Amino acid sequence: MKPFSAFAAPGDWFRGNCHTHTTLSDGSEAPAATAALYRKKGYDFLVLTDHHNACEDVKAFSAKDFLVIRGVEMHPPAQSGGFAHHFIALGVKDKPPKRFLKTAASAIRWGKKQGALVFYCHPYWTGHGRAHLEEGSEALGVEVYNTTCDVHRGLGYSEVHWDHVLSDGWRWRALAVDDTHNYRADGFGGWIMVKAGQLTPRSILSAIKKGWFYATQGPEIHDLSMSDGAIELKCSPVEEVVWHANGPCGSRAIAEAGKAIEHARFEPKNPQATYLRLMIRDAKGRKAWSNPIWRNSKTGRWEE
Ligand SMILES: [Zn+2]
Ligand SMILES: [Zn+2]
Repeated sequence: MKPFSAFAAPGDWFRGNCHTHTTLSDGSEAPAATAALYRKKGYDFLVLTDHHNACEDVKAFSAKDFLVIRGVEMHPPAQSGGFAHHFIALGVKDKPPKRFLKTAASAIRWGKKQGALVFYCHPYWTGHGRAHLEEGSEALGVEVYNTTCDVHRGLGYSEVHWDHVLSDGWRWRALAVDDTHNYRADGFGGWIMVKAGQLTPRSILSAIKKGWFYATQGPEIHDLSMSDGAIELKCSPVEEVVWHANGPCGSRAIAEAGKAIEHARFEPKNPQATYLRLMIRDAKGRKAWSNPIWRNSKTGRWEE
């Protein structure tokens, strides 16, 4: 039995929201008040991602048990037409100079030069299709769920966008985020659980970069492991377990009436399955998503 590395790695699980607006752009609360709200709700970390603006004094809002990380949201125009791109960069040193905001590629390049982790935001809400996603293909991943896009437009779930690019071999991971503007309406709906050694920007960001996290609206993934070509799951009680793979190569299980699923197993036998990811849904309709694993085309083995 080989646990996925996030579950085998030493350290603790930290809960965090990676997409947050404050009065430094169009959010309703000041950075200090926003940090205090998330801390009170039991979060361990928060990334402030104001539109083209980076909070200078994030350390002032951090404490021993609560970390604030400096980020930004960037909006370069889409060359494929329609609405502009939105990207969040987690862990920036500064705000982006205008000359880097001309294309998706230049904005992502700037983020990477900063040592930041860049994610493609809410493609469903932005009305983006495949050509747009390709402009942002150098990002690390996508927001599979965005609370504010769900609450205000019913466009919060970008699961299909994610599956499309995974089917083509992209190694994209996915975040659930709030994109908080006014926490009363759009706070505390989606977050990530990160397995990290310490609650520091370096440790949290390096764990996210390695994929040692899962996205959730509430359900907990307790363990994911692999043995003899089968994936095994242990989780908090849920009603539905979906193993997503290329097109029809996955599988779905629904709990019997009045019962819940806390263990599941799937053996991806179809040779056309090149990626596999897990989605679970609890009785309240809340979902959680694992990061994908990919089949090595040479060895046939599954890898993170
Ligand atoms: Zn946005
Ligand atoms: Zn935003």
